[in-house]
Order: sequence, then structure tokens, then C-alpha cells
Amino acid sequence: MNTIGLIGGMSWESTAVYYRLLNEVVRARSGGLHSADVLLHSVDFAGIAEMQAQGDWAAAGAALAESGRRLERAGASCLVLCTNTMHKVADQITAATKLPFLHLADVTARAILASGARRPLLLATRFTMEQSFYRDRLKAFGVEALVPQPQERDEVHRVIYEELCRGRVEPDSRERYRAIVERAAREEGADGVILGCTEIGLLVSQADFAMPVFDTTALHVAAALDFVGETESVAA
Ligand code: GLU
Repeated sequence: MNTIGLIGGMSWESTAVYYRLLNEVVRARSGGLHSADVLLHSVDFAGIAEMQAQGDWAAAGAALAESGRRLERAGASCLVLCTNTMHKVADQITAATKLPFLHLADVTARAILASGARRPLLLATRFTMEQSFYRDRLKAFGVEALVPQPQERDEVHRVIYEELCRGRVEPDSRERYRAIVERAAREEGADGVILGCTEIGLLVSQADFAMPVFDTTALHVAAALDFVGETESVAA
């Protein structure tokens, strides 16, 4: 059974990227009319974002656990949670099903280690940058993720929720992200950039930076295809 189960919709702008990349890689490998075997449960992000804002992670976790159960009943062979932030409730999801859960921080940490980077700058939502659930998971692999300064974090977070999750890609925001990364490299010795929010790849890519970029969406897609036996990797 090779069906990838996606818990998506957070936001759908990035889930659409997962879907496109999964299919592009399968087409590149197998050619013809081949495409990815995928089940998607896409939630209404407004409700989840409200729970995030209220700090009601238990309710958000319960909603995503139910999503995981639905994918399990439908026949998925693994679970891919298409958002870094909601990995805060990964334990609630893994407790709810027997399916393997492809944890995005583990996938990202392995790619960082393979590249030789050790102090990458984490660009993500405020939840992911400021709380411990994600950085501690990276640290367990020996990756010490730096985060932007407080005002920079406000801006990175604002761009995610007010622009990228609403389908807006603004050149000025790209320049601000680039400036944040350049400052961290110059002043703090950042040696890589983690696009630690699944929408950020819509705004910036490896072409914007001299140091290695770790696009969590592309890395997650590659890990999912590895898991179900598709070996070709995805270009970041
Ligand atoms: N997709 C985003 C992430 O990877 C942010 C949206 C959310 O809060 O889930 O963290």
C-alpha cells in the first residue's frame, strides 16, 4: 500500500505545493501518465488559526487527530502533516492512529546534517520560532537553529499569515526576508536558512541566498516519496 496521507489546508496555498511537487516527482521518475497516490484531508484553516491565536492547542490537536483517523480509515499508509507549526500537536496525532508519522523537523534535521550546516536561521511562524517544540527536536539531532530578532520575527510571522496564506506574494516582503537572513549571517554566523513554514517557498528560494536553503515543503515531499518507495529527490 503506497498511499500518502496528507493532513492539509494549513494553509491550502502550501498544500497545493505539496500536491504539485508529489506529482511532478512521480512523473519525472515514471513518465507517461503516472502520478502520486495521495489521500488529502484539507481542513478549514480559519478554525485552526483561531485555536492557535487562543492558545487552544488541545482543541487543534483533537481536530488534527481526527483528520489522521479519517485518513487511516480511508487507507493511507503514512501521515504527512503539511505545516511545521502544527507539529506542536504531533503527539496527539500519533497517539490517535497506528500510521507512521513523517515528522517534518526530523526530515529537516537530517537534510541539514547532510549539508554540513550547523547554525541555520529558522524562518517560521512566531509559534515555531519562539516555542521549544521544533527547535528542541532539531537540537536532538545536533542542529542549533538561530531565530531572527524580535521585530524581525514579527515581520516574518505577519508575512506568513497576512500575505502567503492568503495567496499574496509581495516583492517587498521578499527583500525584507533577504535582509533578515543577510543580517543573521553577518552578525550571528548563520550558515543556512530553514524555510520552516510550508508557505515560505512561495516567496524565497535557494536563488535568493548564498548559503544552503532547507525548504521544508520540498524535503517533506521527498521523505514521503522515499517512504512509499519512490526514490527520486525533489529539487529545493
Ligand atoms: N504552513 C505554516 C507552517 O508550516 C503556517 C500555517 C500554520 O500555522 O499551520 O507552519
